[in-house]
Amino acid sequence: MRAIEQVSAMQAWSREVRGRDGLRVALVPTMGALHDGHLSLIELARRHADRVVASVFVNPVQFDRADDFARYPRDLERDGALLAGAGADVLFAPDVSEIYPAGAQTFVTVEQLAQPLCGAHRPGHFRGVATVVLKLFTVVQPHVAVFGEKDFQQVAVIRRMVRDLFLDIDIIGAPIVREADGLAMSSRNRHLTGPERRAALCLSAALDAAEAAVAAGTHDPAAVLAAANDAIARESLARVDYVSLVDPDTLAPVASVDDRALLALAVWIGSTRLIDNRLLVVPAIKSERRSA
Ligand code: AMP
Repeated sequence: MRAIEQVSAMQAWSREVRGRDGLRVALVPTMGALHDGHLSLIELARRHADRVVASVFVNPVQFDRADDFARYPRDLERDGALLAGAGADVLFAPDVSEIYPAGAQTFVTVEQLAQPLCGAHRPGHFRGVATVVLKLFTVVQPHVAVFGEKDFQQVAVIRRMVRDLFLDIDIIGAPIVREADGLAMSSRNRHLTGPERRAALCLSAALDAAEAAVAAGTHDPAAVLAAANDAIARESLARVDYVSLVDPDTLAPVASVDDRALLALAVWIGSTRLIDNRLLVVPAIKSERRSA
């Protein structure tokens, strides 16, 4: 695996691999502190391309809180070893000054899709995400890019940006990878103390409760949300940031759960904010889909 830090070197590599060699390139953007969720994206990327570039870049522009950026876990040596083991061909790990040279003043805003959910609670977050992902796209020049559905809104924002800007890049969403007990893997899980790690199970418990409510025939969003909120309220170390039931395409709140709805939540466990989500499918539709 090759490690590249400079934008110009990354562009040169891509030009050569795409042009001279005619190979397909996949990009997996990450912020490092890698876990099996990230590695599943590398594996998926390998199935869609001849060469896989993984980027590790803690993007200051997408952090709404300076303390979160400062304490975000960084472990590039370990990340490099994991990426090499997973079969990445290039680790692109630029400095902040490479991606945002002095004087940079161009940013990307995806409007409506960036408003609700995390957008409402983390001002400027998706402007930072869209900007850095577009920069990574123009530097790495991938044919395909893989993103995890754990950050459901992020994938929606990136897909919209790709359509709106006519970018010739396939976006692939990858399923959420969980610990054995149900906690969605996240670099931020490293911050949790023992009791907080146990408390963090209330996120997946809330998704389970909402899913059970829909499976039992509940169509009223308020009742589904109450089931999720109750599961979180049982945990004294947890504080809800948001729990929302939205249309998975528009991310607007649903008036009734008739077909499918996305339950998305963000919960503070102590000083760590965790997110999770699940697509809830109404049983009748589920069985029709199965037989289709
Ligand atoms: P991050 O390093 O947190 O910015 O995440 C980099 C990529 O990995 C994003 O596309 C995330 O959605 C994805 N990702 C993070 N955690 C998981 C997970 N538990 N399962 C699947 N994908 C994940």
